[in-house]
Amino acid sequence: MQDRIKALLQLEPSDEMVRAEGWVRTKRDSKNVSFVEINDGSCLKGLQAVIDRSRFDSSLLDRITTGASIVAEGRIVPSQGGNQKTELSVDNLTVIGDCPQDYPLQKKRHTVEFLREKAYLRPRTNLFGAVTRVRNTMSYAVHSFFQENGFIYVNTPLISASDCEGAGEQFQVTTLDLGNVPMTEDDKVDYSKDFFGKMANLTVSGQLEGETYATAMKNIYTFGPTFRAENSNTTRHLAEFWMIEPEMAFCTLEGDMEWAEKFLKYIFSAVLEKNAEDMEFFSKFVLEGVEDTLRHVIESPFAHMTYTDAIKALEPENDRFEFPVKWGVEIQTEHEKFLTEHVAGCPVIVTDYPKDIKAFYMKLNDDGKTVRAMDVLAPRLGEIIGGSEREYRYDVLVNRMHELGLNPADYWWYLDLRKYGTVPHAGFGLGFERAVQYVTGVANIRDVIPYPRYAKSCEY
Ligand code: ATP
Ligand code: MN
Repeated sequence: MQDRIKALLQLEPSDEMVRAEGWVRTKRDSKNVSFVEINDGSCLKGLQAVIDRSRFDSSLLDRITTGASIVAEGRIVPSQGGNQKTELSVDNLTVIGDCPQDYPLQKKRHTVEFLREKAYLRPRTNLFGAVTRVRNTMSYAVHSFFQENGFIYVNTPLISASDCEGAGEQFQVTTLDLGNVPMTEDDKVDYSKDFFGKMANLTVSGQLEGETYATAMKNIYTFGPTFRAENSNTTRHLAEFWMIEPEMAFCTLEGDMEWAEKFLKYIFSAVLEKNAEDMEFFSKFVLEGVEDTLRHVIESPFAHMTYTDAIKALEPENDRFEFPVKWGVEIQTEHEKFLTEHVAGCPVIVTDYPKDIKAFYMKLNDDGKTVRAMDVLAPRLGEIIGGSEREYRYDVLVNRMHELGLNPADYWWYLDLRKYGTVPHAGFGLGFERAVQYVTGVANIRDVIPYPRYAKSCEY
């Protein structure tokens, strides 16, 4: 097994032969030597390979071009140059895959828009390499956080046949011939002829199924793909994204908020600890000070505010908003940013939203007007977590369904949970890409996932 570049960079000079495999980032020639930077994605920096030109055929040296894959063997020696402590003094050199001049990633800074069109190559750039490593650290931290805290990982279905969730935003799953759709006598689509014998969709959230497992396993979490046919073209929405949804039984909104804060701080800390070099890069080239902001967020407690107080803080500022607020309206991104950046100066958890703007399953407060919902808002981004205490009282839940024009029969199993050993429980959803955006400072969500899917775009 060969060492990765990251490990080779740690080695002290010695006579031991080592082997570096990777892709050429840059090559600089002087009269007698060539300096080749080899990168293999294990870290931001490449290994500087120094090639004594007199020892190799010029035809071989000419094939060392930006993008080529090579294997270089030699010894780690002290570097003469100032940019690195050590370098590889090359004894054996093989070009595995040549890379012609039309390689799109020639040495210069490319715009993220250009790189989005070259999404199959962009992980070879500094920016996307760093994003990919940070994303990896965060995925791992998601699992370690929950595993260390006794949560059970549950895989909820991606195809969902309960036609009850988030109306309008769902992608339909069908094997019907769209050129010849079977119809019923009253001129509706005949889903009995479809694959599942009924209408099916891609999941917009695993929460309802997650609740069924939480009311057996106490604390569970999901971490998987989620699909929403979002038609809005924003920098924070994808049609396919990853969501983390913990659900805790014997838990109320207070516990829910504590878990959310502890969880965010844990995954942020993991990045500061494991990706120091990448974070330095983001602070320098992507968003100034993003690393310090993250440290500040980890060290300070999140602010808390009810929706009613949030509206009170926003109303006097209505002049500055595109959408002025009053009690009862949705809090939009511009308001979320104002609350976090100007009112609190840190992440804010807003609670107790009007029931009319939140989902049917959130626990009704005694005032009959608000529900036990909580959104975690982050500076720069707005909402990154949405959660709530769930309505666990059978009758209240049925009433809420009627109020919202939902048919309780469609949710028979969900209601059964409130019949068989019901218990207060709560949970939340974190959009994984929003968290990656927050940590890296990357402005557009399309640049923190390998192959972004959004309206009119499904490349690769
Ligand atoms: P928003 O108002 O920002 O659209 P939402 O209220 O629809 O969010 P929830 O249904 O509460 O969001 O989903 C939980 C979390 O999933 C959100 O807090 C957010 O982090 C993330 N999320 C929601 N929709 C998307 C999307 N289209 N792309 C990426 N992440 C998303
Ligand atoms: Mn949404």
